[in-house]
Amino acid sequence: MPSPFVVRAPTDRLDWGALKDRIDLEAVAVALLGEPPGRKGGGRLWWSCPFHPDRNPSFVVDPDRGRWKCWGCGEHGDAAALVMKLDGSTFPAAVRRVVELCGLATWEASPHTPIVPRPVKAPDRPQERPSGLSPADALALVEDAAERLWSPNGVEAIVYLRGRGLNDETIRAARLGFVESARVPTKDGVRSYRASGIVLPWFDGERLALVKIRQLKGARPKYVEAFRDRPRIFPGPEAIQTGLPLIVVEGEFDCLLMAQQLHDVAGVVTLGSAASRLDEDVRRAVKSCRSLFTAHDADNAGDMAAECWPSRAVRVRPPEGCNDWTDVHASGFSRIRYSWGRHLPMSVPWEELAGRR
Ligand SMILES: [Zn+2]
Repeated sequence: MPSPFVVRAPTDRLDWGALKDRIDLEAVAVALLGEPPGRKGGGRLWWSCPFHPDRNPSFVVDPDRGRWKCWGCGEHGDAAALVMKLDGSTFPAAVRRVVELCGLATWEASPHTPIVPRPVKAPDRPQERPSGLSPADALALVEDAAERLWSPNGVEAIVYLRGRGLNDETIRAARLGFVESARVPTKDGVRSYRASGIVLPWFDGERLALVKIRQLKGARPKYVEAFRDRPRIFPGPEAIQTGLPLIVVEGEFDCLLMAQQLHDVAGVVTLGSAASRLDEDVRRAVKSCRSLFTAHDADNAGDMAAECWPSRAVRVRPPEGCNDWTDVHASGFSRIRYSWGRHLPMSVPWEELAGRR
């Protein structure tokens, strides 16, 4: 076992090329997926696949080669790819997580370490082709699901959403929905599988850009992507308002909750796991904001994600004891506003106060 080395987060860059031969994929997989359910042959370990509904384990890890593959859905890769696919983190964040999970490094977070901003790259990728459902089917799914959510069949989904602190007005405005069984094509488009849960659409103006399904009751994977067509930012670029502060959070539900609580004082957006680069127009809009806060989850992955924003961004972690903003909201009345009071002016005009009394 090589001796651990100390990495000072978040400035140190890790060289994956030099590290990958020292990675213990078995340790990484056990940490992320739990103990393997038992079947072990030829030094390989088998799990139920986290990327498709999988009753018999078809997800195999080969620790010797440092590779994993699912014989059911065809997903495959190395340790960093596993982290990226599981939680949507960027490559540098995934490398750090891997290194940490197999005990190759200990983090020494120093408040005195200057943060070196990583330049936000302009989009130079070729035009992405839409994937998943056809645009018409995706839109039909979103519309049907939004109706079903408020029917007796949607009760469980409503309970889940309210449990995340969202009020009915927020739920309706975000056009959230519920689907009992949607047929979703695999990435290669060859086969399809069934998914059920909360339907979470991203819009770009009126154009549907992404549809995710948050599965409930512990079904894996937690998030299924049913449709993608050049998503930019959630809930949409219009959430970024010139002259108002902008808060960037980690996931869609946290984003909706934070916007619900802070709508009068800040714009709130997330890149989810959908895009790692900012679209040029979105970047310009972000620049026009009065101030920028990165309010990702209170963990290493959140810190790393926050680091990808320009240097003027102020990192605001959820307070001690809370991992994300849903936890903060659940911890007591108006806690999100209370937490943000030191960063954002929360004053209420006298006339409005008078009206309340
Ligand atoms: Zn699979």
